[in-house]
Amino acid sequence: MAMMSIRDNLQKQINDSIKQLDFLVKQTKMPIIQDKSGNPLWVDVRELDLRYQIPVKKVQKFFNGLKDGKILATKCQKCGTVYFPPQDDCPYCKTSGLEWIELPKEGKLITYTKISVKPPSFSHYQDYIVGIAKLSNGVNVTAWVIGNLEKLTVGVDVKLEVKEREPEGYITYYLELE
Ligand SMILES: [Zn+2]
Repeated sequence: MAMMSIRDNLQKQINDSIKQLDFLVKQTKMPIIQDKSGNPLWVDVRELDLRYQIPVKKVQKFFNGLKDGKILATKCQKCGTVYFPPQDDCPYCKTSGLEWIELPKEGKLITYTKISVKPPSFSHYQDYIVGIAKLSNGVNVTAWVIGNLEKLTVGVDVKLEVKEREPEGYITYYLELE
């Protein structure tokens, strides 16, 4: 599916819901709808278009690593805490400039959940699995679980892998079942 059609489709859904909301406000004088359980839900009539911008200068090595197929974390030389996703400051030791380490690929899945009710910005994806794996060095990693989902069970071996996320095509990391 082309990027444009996904965006268009999402925009159409948003436009439709705004139309419904406008109609509801005219009818009831209140922007209150019902959620799935029938509970009242107040909907803001002002639209907030939110696109995060996060400074990544201090962790740019992580993104460079992804391009090389490596998944990097940071480690505090003082207390030994490993941070993933990486951060350049240890809040316990109040130190900066942490050491960069490459994470091992091998891990075991310790929990997972299937996401079928997605946040709006994820609505163009098929249902997906989010899991937490404990890597062989003891670090826990949260990521989408992909691969042979017939093997999906707590305790199964997973591999931390770098792959592109479609349809956007940006590089990220996954927990892959073999
Ligand atoms: Zn520390």
